[in-house]
Amino acid sequence: MDEVIIVGAGVGGLTLGLALHQAGIACRIFESVPEIKSIGVGINLLPHATKELAALGLEDALAPLAIETRDATFFNRFGQLIYQEPLGRAAGYDHPQFSIHRGDLQMVLLDAFRGRAGSDRLITNRHCIGVEQDEAGVTLNFSDGPGGAGRFTARGRVAIACDGINSAIRKQLFPDEGEPRYSGVNMWRGVTRWKPMLSGASMVRAGWLSHGKMVIYPIRSPGSDGLQLVNWVAEIETPTYRKRDWNRPGSLEDFIGAFADWHFDWLDVPAFIRAADSVLEFPMVDQDPLPRWSFGRITLLGDAAHPMVPRGSNGAGQAILDVRVLTDALRDQADCVAALASYEKQRLEATTRVVLTNRTNPPDAILREVFQRTNDTRFADIDDVISREELVALSEGYKRIAGYSKEALRRP
Ligand SMILES: Cc1cc2nc3c(=O)[nH]c(=O)nc-3n(C[C@H](O)[C@H](O)[C@H](O)COP(=O)(O)OP(=O)(O)OC[C@H]3O[C@@H](n4cnc5c(N)ncnc54)[C@H](O)[C@@H]3O)c2cc1C
Repeated sequence: MDEVIIVGAGVGGLTLGLALHQAGIACRIFESVPEIKSIGVGINLLPHATKELAALGLEDALAPLAIETRDATFFNRFGQLIYQEPLGRAAGYDHPQFSIHRGDLQMVLLDAFRGRAGSDRLITNRHCIGVEQDEAGVTLNFSDGPGGAGRFTARGRVAIACDGINSAIRKQLFPDEGEPRYSGVNMWRGVTRWKPMLSGASMVRAGWLSHGKMVIYPIRSPGSDGLQLVNWVAEIETPTYRKRDWNRPGSLEDFIGAFADWHFDWLDVPAFIRAADSVLEFPMVDQDPLPRWSFGRITLLGDAAHPMVPRGSNGAGQAILDVRVLTDALRDQADCVAALASYEKQRLEATTRVVLTNRTNPPDAILREVFQRTNDTRFADIDDVISREELVALSEGYKRIAGYSKEALRRP
């Protein structure tokens, strides 16, 4: 009854469970799927997020599974270098940037939560279908998996919706909101085993959305065959799309044509794409920022609160930042309704800025600027197209908005 009820055992829900446990606050997680499996492809954790994960004692478990990303490198579609900057510790941060398989991250969080809080604190096959509240607490209603016939309830003092972009609790609180908003860009994602490219720990962005953009970064260290698992995303402006399903298979022929002549000295892109283990397809979607997340004893966290287009490597990171603020609020304030209100006050405006900036000026705005200024042609000298100062300003501006400028992270 005095438990915090967490709905969803994704990155946000499991991190919240770990943080609450560390703060001595009892909680229980209810997850829709019957068994948590290692699903997804690559995900990035920037220094603001790895700082929080280190505070939860997880850095040593994550580091061997991840690539400590060293640089961000931008090219046009002709393979000409536009800009490069160091990342994470290589850039002087106290904490690393990790590029990691989402499944590896989720399993580290899951093992830690079960090990520390106890396996009985995580209940699977419980799909939330609604929540009610009264003066004393919340009552959550579940079915056994999506559409299941069985019914279960759980009582707690507050309910935190960490149930991702299609959040059932968000839909209950905002019934007229509608489906996630399509950005006009479709994505095909995959992982390929390939020899290390560039620094072996580079995060590459190349091309531009109208003709085809690629994001490429390694997520596991090389094996005994010298190959490493490399995550890639092909992003192309496409008028139509199919509803997001994290497991929807994609077809190479739908997008590989956009990259047919991308033969760079550091990578043969068509060969690299063709060598993928598998290809997934999903639309780039988000939702308009909400006016509020907290309703008495109920609030939203992570993608349930602020789904964003994945153009700033910030989806997981912003969920993790929410966790820190919410945990501190619940620890420091006896009145849990006031704690949820204070969490919203600290995080809603900050994440709204990230959601909106991801639409307009995320880090890949660098590619857009060069694409437009060169009219999509080769350049003789990048300095004639855009100054180093402008490139740095575009990159640093996003870091400030997303909360991972070096100055912000050094503040106590
Ligand atoms: C299967 C899957 C694969 C993903 N793959 C990638 C990827 O490859 N790269 C990337 O950048 N991001 C990926 N994401 C998204 C990424 O994890 C999130 O953007 C980010 O980490 C924020 O996490 P979150 O906890 O808010 O949401 P999520 O990580 O999406 O977690 C939501 C959790 O809630 C559960 N859930 C949903 N509805 C209910 C319900 N009604 N009742 C109970 N539980 C519910 C889901 O099963 C899931 O475990 C993926 C998400 C999922 C669910």
